[in-house]
Amino acid sequence: MNAFNIRRAYSKKKESAWDKIYWFIDFHDTVCRADYGDAAKTHEFFPNAERVLRTLSEKKDVSLVLWTCSHADDIQTLVDWLRTRGIVFCYVNENPEVADSRLSCYEKKPYMNIVLDDKAGFCGDDGDWFLIEEELKAIGEW
Ligand SMILES: [Mg+2]
Repeated sequence: MNAFNIRRAYSKKKESAWDKIYWFIDFHDTVCRADYGDAAKTHEFFPNAERVLRTLSEKKDVSLVLWTCSHADDIQTLVDWLRTRGIVFCYVNENPEVADSRLSCYEKKPYMNIVLDDKAGFCGDDGDWFLIEEELKAIGEW
């Protein structure tokens, strides 16, 4: 994982006086190991994922967006299950908080600041959730 992306996103937030940071986070093989079975079952978090996501969920200047290709029924089951663990995803695959402008259209590419996805190199089972906690602590955002 490129931890410096997190540092840079929070730097830009300060420089540009943004209200929020939008984290787009995949579920399968990013938050929990994918088994592609029953979405209603209990999933096994990767080490430190639950702690980091719960901490981010409590921050007023963070919106978590579930970034997933799962089907709609499974998505709702996952979102509900995560909520029982204190992890709150505000949206799924969209960010309605940021409107189109003269220069930007977010219809097909939602506005996002930080992306965690195993298909983009994130390794939930190789310590990346610990790196995120370290980085957030290092920049005073934990
Ligand atoms: Mg995945």
